[in-house]
Amino acid sequence: MSDQLIRFIRDYYATNEFIPLHAPVFPGREKEYVADTIESTVVSSVGKYVDRFEHNMAAYTGSQRAVATVNGTTALHISLKLAGVERGDLVITQPLTFVATCNAIAYCNAEPVFVDVDRNTLGLSATALETWLEENASLDADGVCRTRADNKVIRACVPMHTFGHPADLDGLGAVANRWNIALVEDAAESLGSLYKGRHTGTFGALGTLSFNGNKIMTTGGGGMILASEELAARAKHLTTTAKKPHDFEYIHDEVGYNYRMPNLNAALGCAQLEQLEAFIDKKRALAAAYEEYLSGTALEFIKEPENCRSNYWLNAVICEDKADRDELLETTNKQGVMTRPIWALMNHLSMYKNCRKGELSYAEFLEERVVNLPSSVLPK
Ligand SMILES: *Cc1c(COP(=O)(O)O)cnc(C)c1O
Repeated sequence: MSDQLIRFIRDYYATNEFIPLHAPVFPGREKEYVADTIESTVVSSVGKYVDRFEHNMAAYTGSQRAVATVNGTTALHISLKLAGVERGDLVITQPLTFVATCNAIAYCNAEPVFVDVDRNTLGLSATALETWLEENASLDADGVCRTRADNKVIRACVPMHTFGHPADLDGLGAVANRWNIALVEDAAESLGSLYKGRHTGTFGALGTLSFNGNKIMTTGGGGMILASEELAARAKHLTTTAKKPHDFEYIHDEVGYNYRMPNLNAALGCAQLEQLEAFIDKKRALAAAYEEYLSGTALEFIKEPENCRSNYWLNAVICEDKADRDELLETTNKQGVMTRPIWALMNHLSMYKNCRKGELSYAEFLEERVVNLPSSVLPK
């Protein structure tokens, strides 16, 4: 089984060399734009490529505005602050995610609460969210969502669009509205993915992207906040040391952060964004090839949810059980075809093990069975 899959992957990538899980490609104007920043000496905090990257990303996603940051984690941190998350608050998220989602909550001195994912989207489940809130929360006289047991404020919820597959945004939006909690989308993995024709990351009050080296497009390291004009203006201020505009004086009016993306990285981003739709086409072609190859085998290929266009950032399969998963991981990695298991659940990590949680049966099922397959864009 694994041997045949390895053959299939080697044929697709037409190589007998090591095949990574996800490697970036730079077939466009990357060198030209980066060289331009070096020649101009404007490589650091401000510059025309930062403005252009923000403008082009807002236009591409249909967001009112976009604010570039040094990475996706910092974009999440600031987004949570702007959603009103304060010390001691609770933020509901999924246990099946990359650790950055939870770390950003911890940076706000808030606590994550884990509720289950949907089996088909791998994203936060609207039903599980509603159930947890019904069992644990109520709206106070001011309309603030609080836990009944200890009166903690539940300020926000953070769905994550796992491997590029959009979560149930209609369902989540309705629950968040009903309970008066802010929706902040962790769209780090889903740039270019559409839910009912609209870009992920633009449904919540704020949405965040990542341009780390392993994402669908990269700036080396980088992130972005998608938001309304008003929240984005606040995000820009907070991520650029909270400096008041002035011709020469240094006036900072609150504790700000140095989270801005350097111009050098934005130059790379501008070139990559020009090719994003072509990358997505290639990703989707690869996903279709995996899907066809795997149909009728013991491996269940994870498909995009209905009414969605996934960017298929990372292809993934569900193995029958943990023993099969281990066999697949061992055989492929030993033979130079890189595969990886899905993350350990956040509630299994030492720093988050005592956090509140709902019933997590799908997350636990997936934790034992999901494997990511090589997903790089073919360079040719
Ligand atoms: C990549 C990623 C992030 C952000 O990562 P950075 O490396 O800080 O850019 C956040 N959440 C998820 C789910 C991710 O996959």
